[in-house]
Amino acid sequence: MADILNPKRKYYCPRCGNERIIDYGESFDCPKCRQRFEKEDFDSGLDDDEILSIEEKLEFSKIFNSDKDTD
Ligand SMILES: [Zn+2]
Repeated sequence: MADILNPKRKYYCPRCGNERIIDYGESFDCPKCRQRFEKEDFDSGLDDDEILSIEEKLEFSKIFNSDKDTD
């Protein structure tokens, strides 16, 4: 086990389970799904299917914001 090198939780893509993620520090990319996820969401104990990618979160906030918009 290489856990000594990486004592923190191992991150993986919640969509496809890919462990070959690209680490950006606070977040990581899945090169297969081309989505970026926040490590914070993993650490908060969400289920895999509850974890939204950053792109998905942006979509949600757009929807919320457009609801509030009154031209
Ligand atoms: Zn993936």
